[in-house]
Amino acid sequence: MATLITDACINCGACEHECPNGAISEGSYIYEIDRDLCTECVGFFGDESCQMVCPVECCVPDVGWVEEEVDLLAKAIRLHGEDNFPKLEELDEKTSRFRNKNWINRDI
Ligand code: SF4
Repeated sequence: MATLITDACINCGACEHECPNGAISEGSYIYEIDRDLCTECVGFFGDESCQMVCPVECCVPDVGWVEEEVDLLAKAIRLHGEDNFPKLEELDEKTSRFRNKNWINRDI
């Protein structure tokens, strides 16, 4: 489930440099997330970094694009290299939102 930015975005730019994958950029109308680069921060953080900084809470799960934790970790490894990440069984609440019971959108 990649993250997407809704049209509530106020173009503050706070999220762009927080994304560890460089998946966020300024679009023609609002900021946008490239779903091919979005890993929901699996392997990096226990929350999605864009959600943590967005002042208007418009970085939301894309329920039309569901991805499992194992696939998101594999994507992160493709982007950054295997040496940079724990193994799937080593992920915890600090490195995967799937294991973080306080994840903002846990009801989704
Ligand atoms: Fe838009 Fe939120 Fe990113 Fe600011 S932090 S640019 S409001 S999505």
